[in-house]
Amino acid sequence: MPTRTVSTGCCIAGGGPAGMMLGYLLARAGVEVTVLEKHADFLRDFRGDTIHPSTLEIMGELGLLDEFLKRPHQEVRQLTAQIGEDRVTLADFSHLPTRCHFIAFMPQWDFLDFLADQARHFPNFHLYMQAEVTDLLQNDGTVTGAVAKVPDGTLRVQADLVVGADGRHSAVRDLAGLEVEDLGAPMDVLWLRLSKKPDDGTPVLGRIQAGKFFVMLDRGDYWQCAFVIPKGGFNELRRRGLPAFRSAIVEINPVLADRVSEIASWDDVKLLTVRVDRLKRWYKPGVLCIGDAAHAMSPVGGVGINLAVQDAVAAANILAGPLRKGPVPVEDLAKVQKRREWPTRLMQAVQVFIQTRIVKPVLALQAQPRTPLVARLLDRFPYLRRFPARLVGMGFRPEHVSAEIRSQKPEIRSKIAETSRRSSDF
Ligand SMILES: Cc1cc2nc3c(=O)[nH]c(=O)nc-3n(C[C@H](O)[C@H](O)[C@H](O)COP(=O)(O)OP(=O)(O)OC[C@H]3O[C@@H](n4cnc5c(N)ncnc54)[C@H](O)[C@@H]3O)c2cc1C
Repeated sequence: MPTRTVSTGCCIAGGGPAGMMLGYLLARAGVEVTVLEKHADFLRDFRGDTIHPSTLEIMGELGLLDEFLKRPHQEVRQLTAQIGEDRVTLADFSHLPTRCHFIAFMPQWDFLDFLADQARHFPNFHLYMQAEVTDLLQNDGTVTGAVAKVPDGTLRVQADLVVGADGRHSAVRDLAGLEVEDLGAPMDVLWLRLSKKPDDGTPVLGRIQAGKFFVMLDRGDYWQCAFVIPKGGFNELRRRGLPAFRSAIVEINPVLADRVSEIASWDDVKLLTVRVDRLKRWYKPGVLCIGDAAHAMSPVGGVGINLAVQDAVAAANILAGPLRKGPVPVEDLAKVQKRREWPTRLMQAVQVFIQTRIVKPVLALQAQPRTPLVARLLDRFPYLRRFPARLVGMGFRPEHVSAEIRSQKPEIRSKIAETSRRSSDF
């Protein structure tokens, strides 16, 4: 099989939220960028669909927000839950100091397609689909590029910097020998779709009952549902059979009784194993990991996409200048970790707390849960709902796109035009 070699400024492994956003930002800043994505398209299993106010703010800073919001999406301004018999409102986004006071629910593939379409406007942006990174090029302990398996052979990408944005099972972090700290997760999630009907009533995001945790995301004409199970419990659930699983869903939301038969086989139920971990060091000479590759996030709070985007913004702000000059000093890579590590650690601490103090006990409960005091207070005093909204909607240390990248200076555009053929497309 033939081997081809191209050279680029920044080679990004993985076209998820972190990789596509970083690719777009660096291309906009005049850096030669090559993104390698192992799948043929962005259409695949559910991977989280929540675009939070912090990410919408970034889109606004880039002048992309109006165009982005033309894509089909649902806007959620409050988060409500049903705990036993009580329905409570837990978060209200309407007071956030951001352009958008809602979470946009949009399939992740639409979000990624949008970023890819925008990035393609820059001649110095190159996206290779069906390109799976399998090895790193190294010279004296410094990473100098990546090797990818492509449909017609092997692609060698020589680069000033390789960024591992290849998710929770990152090949880059393994190949670079970066050490992972596992924080553990007591649950896995089963995803499934059920049709939506006009008389389904006001959407309730989360439902908690004895031993059950169920989430329903309004996707216009269907519900994207998450059924939370104890870690490793999928085989036991399958052993009990599909009828028992359907009954469990009806018990937690009787409205769904007339459509659980849409779950025709276990093929309609996708298991997503939950991991929470982080790298001790996110970088070594010539390589940096961001997003889930640096810190796999729990689905709790639905913040993973947004953290990945925040990492991409911080990395682009710090690295665009050095990358335009050539290989990036390791001190600059350290700055990215320094900037993003504590917001990540804090968010993971919140997620682990909720997993162990709420999710795990609920999954073990035999009796109907009582609504915790904190949930009752949030429901009773609307002002308090601003705090969880801020945590979920903006996270810790929200990033802003640097003025240089925002402004897309004409001289950068002409530099792009001059240098854009350093990397060659297929
Ligand atoms: C069950 C579950 C539900 C979740 N729900 C939500 C939610 O609702 N909202 C939310 O914000 N977050 C959610 N998350 C977390 C979220 O999915 C991740 O945090 C987020 O997608 C991380 O983005 P990323 O770009 O770092 O990685 P990913 O989204 O994992 O993207 C990595 C990309 O790299 C590609 N890739 C992998 N290996 C290679 C390779 N060797 N070569 C080339 N390409 C490669 C993959 O195909 C993929 O496109 C959920 C997570 C789980 C487990």
